[in-house]
Amino acid sequence: MSDDCIFCQIIAGEIPSRTVYEDDDVFAFLDVNPMSRGHTLVIPKDHAQRIEELPEDQRAAVFTTLGKLAPAVEAAVDADGVNIGMNDGEAAGQEVMHTHGHIIPRFEGDGGGAVHSIVQTYPELSDEEFDEVAAAIREAQ
Ligand code: AMP
Ligand code: ZN
Repeated sequence: MSDDCIFCQIIAGEIPSRTVYEDDDVFAFLDVNPMSRGHTLVIPKDHAQRIEELPEDQRAAVFTTLGKLAPAVEAAVDADGVNIGMNDGEAAGQEVMHTHGHIIPRFEGDGGGAVHSIVQTYPELSDEEFDEVAAAIREAQ
């Protein structure tokens, strides 16, 4: 537990939350400032800032729970789909530095966009640049 982390405090019961799921590894609760009805957060019980810092079994537990809860959330609020996403790192919009996944219910005609709308401008890459990027990612693993 990280003492100054609000999500650790939620897990510890020191800050109230509307819990929707809990097991040994994972905790899920309603986002207090929902982007849509049913907006749910899934967090690992152990504190880690970035998804890469989580041990692999806990990372798997978070993603398994996202997969299990998404249809439950969708059904509960009678949504037509969900966006599942993570803001991983400050530059990506992460504000609470305890890694978490969002389940955001979506409704036909709600006016929202796809995950593709998170950036304003797309880069134009040549074939060579695509190849370089792919090679760099393979090497960085
Ligand atoms: P992110 O930008 O991915 O770090 O998002 C953090 C999310 O946590 C935001 O959607 C907040 O509304 C949500 N949040 C912050 N504090 C609380 C809280 N005490 N209970 C529930 N959700 C919270
Ligand atoms: Zn924490």
